[in-house]
Amino acid sequence: MPQSFVSPVTLSVVTPMYNEREAVDHFVGRLRPVLDGLGVTYEVVAVDDGSRDATVSRLLQLRADWSALRVVALRRNVGHQAALAAGLQSARGEFVVSIDADLQDPPEVIGEMLAAAHEQRVDVVYGVRGDRSTDTVFKRRTAGIYYWTMRRLAGPWVSDQAGDFRLMSRAVVDVLNALPEQNPIYRLVVPSLGFASAEVSYVRAERVAGETKYPLSKMIKLTLDSLTSFSAAPLRIATWLGILSFLVCLGLIVSGLTAWAMGAVVPGWTSLYIAVLLLGGIQLICLGLLGEYIGRIYAATQNRPRFLVAFDTDKDAAAVDPAELAARR
Ligand code: UDP
Ligand code: MG
Repeated sequence: MPQSFVSPVTLSVVTPMYNEREAVDHFVGRLRPVLDGLGVTYEVVAVDDGSRDATVSRLLQLRADWSALRVVALRRNVGHQAALAAGLQSARGEFVVSIDADLQDPPEVIGEMLAAAHEQRVDVVYGVRGDRSTDTVFKRRTAGIYYWTMRRLAGPWVSDQAGDFRLMSRAVVDVLNALPEQNPIYRLVVPSLGFASAEVSYVRAERVAGETKYPLSKMIKLTLDSLTSFSAAPLRIATWLGILSFLVCLGLIVSGLTAWAMGAVVPGWTSLYIAVLLLGGIQLICLGLLGEYIGRIYAATQNRPRFLVAFDTDKDAAAVDPAELAARR
């Protein structure tokens, strides 16, 4: 791990952005005064996750008068967690804060997080949502089920109020960057590492502009990745279902033999049909479960890059022409 590396800035603020053209001005307008007021050196790593709107060109325009704004553009949309991974790999700060671009996480809290890290000498400071009343009922319900399940499967350290708004020290970020995992779910992995931590509570606001970039399909993917990356328990469901169906079969054999002995032979099409369907269903579920894990083992052995950086303004500034980009999009 590159422990000898001296961070050139105190703080990196990492923000994944996907089609955030409508939110980006609000975000920058509110973030900048907060960071300027902290009195520490900083960089903002805006990771463009393959947006199809003008997010990148707008970011490059904003960068013209805010040199601390660094734009790391990915080649295609890889999803929130992988975009976060790209940001963590690029960040150079002694401390790294990850925050959403839609101002649901208030930037003002970053100061409190940094102070907590210094005063309490901890490596992680979680932003804890005190109030989610601005989220839709559907979002709160599904989030509630997700965290309940993950606490049971992944471990009691999973907080139901901590999302991806958190501060981490260089030591934590180095560990995360060195993980060989294909799809780490940071909100579960970070607490599982066991670094000393503190919490800062905040009120989750409404998205400032645009709409959620987490449709149901992405929520399901996050849940499947979370489940399979932390627990083999679902595989055991197969065993239990197998035992259960074996017991049911035993019962059926006994009742069948009794009926045969008493000479009352049942025509039996319905029961046969139900038994075949039931067992077939159970077997398919179990095969599907195995497939979920095998698919991930397959992806891990392929070891393809999770994301590719198209450009990073701090490394290849000359290669980026905002006018050309604007024309392309
Ligand atoms: N995001 C991303 N890639 C995606 C989806 C989302 O980088 O494929 C970013 C998005 O721009 C935002 C953050 O992840 O900064 C959280 O997304 P969003 O606010 O839409 O999620 P929600 O708050 O509705 O759960
Ligand atoms: Mg949001």
